[in-house]
Amino acid sequence: MSKIDIETGYLNRANHFIDGRWQAADGQQRRELVNPYDESGFGSVALGTAEDVDAAVKAARAALPSWSALPRHQRAKWCYAIAEALKEKAELLARLESLNVGSPISFSRMAHAQVAVAITASYGEFLERGGHDEVIGNSRVVREPIGVVGAIAAWNYPLMLLLGKAIPAIAAGCTVVAKPSEVTPLTSMVVADVLQEVGLPAGVINIVNGDGPTVGEALVNHRGVDMVSFTGSTAVGRRIMANAATQVKKVALELGGKSATVVLDDAPLEQAVRGAVRGAYPNAGQTCIALSRLIVPGNLIDQALDIAADEAGRFIAGDPMDERTTLGPLAFAGHHQRVAEYIRLGQREATLIAGGEGLPDGVERGFFVKPTVFGRVDPQARIAQEEIFGPVLSVIAAGSEEQAIDIANGTIYGLNGAVWSADPERAVRAARRMQCGKVDINGGGFNLDAPAGGFKQSGIGRERGHYALEEYMEVKSLQFADADLARASALE
Ligand code: NAD
Repeated sequence: MSKIDIETGYLNRANHFIDGRWQAADGQQRRELVNPYDESGFGSVALGTAEDVDAAVKAARAALPSWSALPRHQRAKWCYAIAEALKEKAELLARLESLNVGSPISFSRMAHAQVAVAITASYGEFLERGGHDEVIGNSRVVREPIGVVGAIAAWNYPLMLLLGKAIPAIAAGCTVVAKPSEVTPLTSMVVADVLQEVGLPAGVINIVNGDGPTVGEALVNHRGVDMVSFTGSTAVGRRIMANAATQVKKVALELGGKSATVVLDDAPLEQAVRGAVRGAYPNAGQTCIALSRLIVPGNLIDQALDIAADEAGRFIAGDPMDERTTLGPLAFAGHHQRVAEYIRLGQREATLIAGGEGLPDGVERGFFVKPTVFGRVDPQARIAQEEIFGPVLSVIAAGSEEQAIDIANGTIYGLNGAVWSADPERAVRAARRMQCGKVDINGGGFNLDAPAGGFKQSGIGRERGHYALEEYMEVKSLQFADADLARASALE
């Protein structure tokens, strides 16, 4: 069996993982999967039904009482066991994400596989650190698992998004029904194998494949689901929130972004602009926290555009499985068309500085988009307001720091940001004024234990770290006859 057969072998049983075992899909419908590099079909995935969702929710509800009663340290052991088993399959996971999403293999190893393993293990550590009951007068405030969580993921970081919901949820004592994106189901199938291999009790994590309108909506609307944790577009997030509202069901929403790098007038321009361009294009720009706008002082814009064009030209397009590739294709044809339309729009709205229409050098087919820079973009232009989700950067001139912050805050989104200044305190002051869930200061890097999430229409709630654990818990006050009894009650 060739390596690719082993990889795609996951597909041919890509049905559903319910109650601890693989189960055939209720319906006959399947979706073709296409390799974004060579545009060849390489398998299909089941499109589940409301009946499949119902079976999975029943399994999750049945597993809930015993799972939620487990002490924290035992749940921690499960997190470590899952992390260890995922680590053994890290290379397979990386290759599957490269095949399915199109991410360059070096990026897949780091940003898909390693990050997913680390997130999983981190919840073992958080659980071992103990709980944090609070005593307030005669009350002891405790946290309880919210119940059954419906976890719905996007296609851009399939493994990380699925585990970034399912693991903190089970760490909190909840059980889960997860729906991967129908575009990128492969690594979720490996996760199911891992859960079986480590012997996680049946029903604690269930995975149902399928599309949004059928499986996604059935999960959100199911009365046996206590909370929905969703990562995806703002448009679908709004619909999920509206559907969940009919049952006053808790939602955690990780949505879109149009994040900005703000370069202040004292910043090291070259370093800042190169950092901003690299921050705009990870995973070919298909990253919710991509820094897709760059705001620079007006008097420095020509220099900034030269540097940005140079940095954009350094990306190497090619086979995602090739170690030298730094720019992979976009994940699927429909998305490629959408991004190409934005590039045509950008040519009408602004000045093209680098990239543009057509295939980048080094490739002859596939859903590739050239690393593209638009210069002197009006902050109100559509390319500066709407999430493009491809390697497209809009460079905007600002007349002052005040104006730069206003532009950065001037979209419906508020997910991520970056600030560059020679004066760290000035950078922090600017960062505090940015309306977003995370700000990188002078190139500050990713921290997977720190919370991430959105202001405004970028979402509700936080993922990662102990903040994510708390998302999956309800707060309860136990009232005692007096404060001494409240203090004496040891629950964890
Ligand atoms: P999408 O909203 O189209 O789909 C996301 C998921 O929702 C998929 O699994 C889909 O099947 C499902 N879905 C679709 N309609 C549904 C419905 N009516 N009810 C329930 N589920 C439904 O998003 P996408 O195109 O897969 O992903 C790209 C988007 O995700 C971008 O906007 C990106 O910014 C966002 N994203 C955000 C974060 C974050 O942490 N904030 C991370 C990754 C991606």
